[in-house]
Amino acid sequence: MKSKLTKKLGIWGKDNIVRDDGKCYAEDYYCVRCYKNKIEIKAKSFWPAIDPDIPSYPYCNDCKVELNLYIWEEMEKKK
Ligand SMILES: [Zn+2]
Repeated sequence: MKSKLTKKLGIWGKDNIVRDDGKCYAEDYYCVRCYKNKIEIKAKSFWPAIDPDIPSYPYCNDCKVELNLYIWEEMEKKK
């Protein structure tokens, strides 16, 4: 077993995991960014999750921090 995770998680865009309350939770999926790099890490939350019209994806904390930083830098450049 490559993964340290005990529970098998869903792959975003492939698996559709809905809990008993009818909602989907980031914790039930692998971080999409890490998964692309073949690292299976449990996601922590959806991002950007600022607008329901903008699709958000499950990310782990590290990726979320990096993405936030990236967005912030891009915004600074436009000023
Ligand atoms: Zn990640």
